[in-house]
Amino acid sequence: VLLIKNIGQLFTATGMGVIDNAAILIEQGKIHWCGPLKALPAVNPSETIDAAGRLVLPGLIDCHTHLLFAGSRAGEFKARMENRSYEEIQRSGGGIFSTVRATVDASDSSLLESAVRHVGAMARSGVTTIEVKSGYGLSWASEMRLLRLIKELATLVPVDIHPTFMGAHAIPEEYRKHPESYVDIICRDMLPAIAEQNLARDCDIFCDRGNFDLPQAVRILRTAHTLGLGLKAHVNQLTAGQGLRLIEELPLNSVSHADFLTAQDVAILQAHSAVVEILPFANLFLRVMPQVSAHELQEKGINLAVASNFNPGSAMCHDLVLAARLAVTMLGFSLEQALLGLTAHAAWALNRPDVGQITPGAQADIVIAQAASVEEFFYDWTTNPVKQVIKRGVALP
Ligand SMILES: [Zn+2]
Repeated sequence: VLLIKNIGQLFTATGMGVIDNAAILIEQGKIHWCGPLKALPAVNPSETIDAAGRLVLPGLIDCHTHLLFAGSRAGEFKARMENRSYEEIQRSGGGIFSTVRATVDASDSSLLESAVRHVGAMARSGVTTIEVKSGYGLSWASEMRLLRLIKELATLVPVDIHPTFMGAHAIPEEYRKHPESYVDIICRDMLPAIAEQNLARDCDIFCDRGNFDLPQAVRILRTAHTLGLGLKAHVNQLTAGQGLRLIEELPLNSVSHADFLTAQDVAILQAHSAVVEILPFANLFLRVMPQVSAHELQEKGINLAVASNFNPGSAMCHDLVLAARLAVTMLGFSLEQALLGLTAHAAWALNRPDVGQITPGAQADIVIAQAASVEEFFYDWTTNPVKQVIKRGVALP
C-alpha cells in the first residue's frame, strides 16, 4: 500500500470536487481510498509520499494528438502568419500532404525515436494517457504501418498510449476526383484489418469542406462502429458545415475543433453526450478563434476537453498545461473547467472511465503539482507545474 499524505488540495475531478488536507491510498496500481487526512483509515503503508501541502490532481490526459510524424512545416507557419489560409496551403500541396510525404519517407526508427522523445517530455509534464492518431499515411499499407508503430511506441514509454485510426484525415491527392473509392478502401480493407489485429481503439475522421462530406463520414464511422471501435470526428474547423449531424446518426464519444457552430449545432451538442475537444494551439496557429464561447457551451451542460492537438502543422507544441492556461486566459474557461478538460472530460472523450478521476477503483495515475492550489497552478507560468508523476501507482523517475 502506497500512502500519499499532506495533500494541500486534492482536485478529484469527481462530484467530490476539491478536498483540502487530503490523503490517498493506492493498492495494486489502483486508488483504494481518498479523502480528508483526518478520515484516513488505519493502515500500515509500505511506502509513503509526502506531498508537502501541494496540489494533487489526476494524471493528465491528452485526448487529441497526431504525434507520430516526420518533417517540419515551418515555412507553412510563416505563410499563415502572412495571412495565407489553411485551405490555400493544402491546395498547393502543403498542409497534411507534406507531412504524409515526409512520414512515408522516414524510417521506422526515426519516427519512433522522435515520438518517444515527445512522449517522454509530455510524461514529465504530468500527462499519463496520450491519444495518438494515425493519418499521415493515407494508404492501406502506410496507415497499417503507422498503427503498428503506435503499438510499438506504447511498449517504449511509461504512459498509456491510446491508438486512434484516422485514415480519413484527408482525401489523398490521387483520389481527389473520386473520393468514394478511397472511402471504399477504408471501409472494405483498412477498418476490418485494424479491428482484426486490434490496432486501434477509436476511429477519427475529418468531416469539413474539401475533406470528407457527411455521407462519407457516416459510412466510415458506421463501419468502425460495427467493428467495435469508438468514434470521434474533426468537425467545423473550417466552416459551419454539417459535421455535428454525425452525433445525431452515431454514438460519437467526442468531436474536435468545432470553432464554427450555428445555434442548431449547439442544440445538437446539448442533446447528446459527445465531449467537445477544444484545441487552443490550433486556434493560435491557424489564427481562428471559436465563434461560440466555451463559457456559453458549458452553461448549456456541454462537456469540454482541452487537448494539445500536437501536430507539425496546426499545433507544434505538446505542452498540455499551457493549452489549459490558454483555455483559461484566452477562451473563457474557469480554472475548474480547464482542469476537468485535462482529466475527467478528456477521459470521457476517449471512453476511458478508468482514468481521469481520483476515486476508489480508478487507475492510480496521479500528478503532484509544484503549486499549493488550483489558482497557483494556473497563475504561475514561470516554473515547471509538475513536481512528481505517478503512473499505475508507481512514481516515474
Ligand atoms: Zn487533429
